[in-house]
Amino acid sequence: MPTTVMDARTPAPAAAPRHWAIVGGGMLGLTLAYRLSQAGEKVTVLEAAPSLGGLASAWQVGDVTWDRYYHVTMLSDARLRALLEELGLEQDVRWSVTKTNFYTGSSMHALNNSIDYIRLPVLGLIDKARLAATIIYGSRIENGRPLEQLSAEAWLTRLSGKTTYQNLWRPLLRSKLGNNYAKASAAYIWSVIRRFYAARRGGLKTEMFGYVPGGYRRILATLAEKLQAGGVTLETGMPVTAVTSSGNGFQVTAGEDVRHFDRVVNTCASPIATKVCAGLNDRERLQHEDILYQGIVCASLLLDRSLGGAYLTYITDETIPFTTVIEMSTLIDRVETGGRHLVYLPKYLPLDDPLLGASDEEVEAAFVPALLRMFPGLARENIKSFKVTRTRHVLAVSTLNYSEKLPPMATSIPGLYIVNSAQIVNGSLSVDESVNLANEASAFLIATEQVPTGTAAK
Ligand SMILES: Cc1cc2nc3c(=O)[nH]c(=O)nc-3n(C[C@H](O)[C@H](O)[C@H](O)COP(=O)(O)OP(=O)(O)OC[C@H]3O[C@@H](n4cnc5c(N)ncnc54)[C@H](O)[C@@H]3O)c2cc1C
Repeated sequence: MPTTVMDARTPAPAAAPRHWAIVGGGMLGLTLAYRLSQAGEKVTVLEAAPSLGGLASAWQVGDVTWDRYYHVTMLSDARLRALLEELGLEQDVRWSVTKTNFYTGSSMHALNNSIDYIRLPVLGLIDKARLAATIIYGSRIENGRPLEQLSAEAWLTRLSGKTTYQNLWRPLLRSKLGNNYAKASAAYIWSVIRRFYAARRGGLKTEMFGYVPGGYRRILATLAEKLQAGGVTLETGMPVTAVTSSGNGFQVTAGEDVRHFDRVVNTCASPIATKVCAGLNDRERLQHEDILYQGIVCASLLLDRSLGGAYLTYITDETIPFTTVIEMSTLIDRVETGGRHLVYLPKYLPLDDPLLGASDEEVEAAFVPALLRMFPGLARENIKSFKVTRTRHVLAVSTLNYSEKLPPMATSIPGLYIVNSAQIVNGSLSVDESVNLANEASAFLIATEQVPTGTAAK
């Protein structure tokens, strides 16, 4: 709740230090606040939810508190690991080798080594060799921007062949993007291949995933302490409804509360940012509106038995209503989950999909029978808790020529910035990329603000 109150009609005194409002207290907004405060700026974070963290926040399922959405850290997450180091948490990260399954044609297959891969049905040996070559080739491409000119479908068909595209890539793309799969550029799938391949120790071999004991709840609490120690004001339960130019700064409205800030950075998804920020010109508004978002519905389940030991089950069977199965407790210590087995069933969805508006009971009715079908040893009685979270604007799909169409961080209104995860180009949605974006944005904001207002670089 508010800890500082200023009258909106009173302009900030000329000699007062510059005061920034960061709208959105997810990992991006918090890291940005951290960097700006390290640069000597005065910062207040305004977060709509009752707690910080956004997609990375924790919640309670049964008597277990863990991340609302599943999160792992990868060995290659250099920017996130550097932040964890600054927070004194990096040495606590626990790394594990995880197992992977592949569910296709109504049957489950292990996918942990080259032999599993050779045995995998659906594809012949030549197709498998082309698929492996596609992954190795994709993982070696450093700059994904040229791939924005090609559709994922065209690129994957060319590299892996028609059969592999139809039987494997297309169902995987569809499970993540729904009918938007046809609009995704090759850069989208390249960024996914690159992130996952980087976690492997070699070829199509074992993966190393990590987590901080205590999960993101602990990371966020440590980050919040560090921010407050550095003078940052953190306010939760503050849904910002308007940001309006006022004198040399901005009037920021959150519920009944109206404040004056000198600079504002909105880190929310584009549809929220443009709704809240008054006075944007048509061009930038259209640029934001043009971004194609996917939503997500994600169920957390507590089971009294394991599903079998794989962290991740890829699904190409289009009769299954969720995207993957994540058995988190194969990675994290079961002390974290009170001895239960924590499983996530995510479903990424286009924004017009009715499942985004479905009740927990409706999601349960759609998901549980499919899970029981996939894991015949599992019975309904083994499911001790089932809870659903949903977010509308989660993933900005990298469409054709994506980075050329993206709005810049600086808006046409001097001192007002929109910095959000849609601006992650050349990478997939991850905390590592969010931290990187915050690092880059803070450097840009500081440099821009050294230029007299009105001549700021865009
Ligand atoms: C299912 C899933 C799995 C994931 N798995 C991983 C993983 O394994 N590893 C990994 O590194 N990353 C993972 N990620 C990605 C990671 O969660 C994101 O990259 C990161 O959390 C994004 O942070 P953000 O601050 O940009 O966005 P958000 O977390 O969405 O933060 C935006 C914040 O703005 C707030 N807000 C919205 N409107 C307003 C308003 N009007 N006023 C004030 N505040 C407002 C929201 O409440 C929210 O807190 C995963 C994401 C999902 C969805």
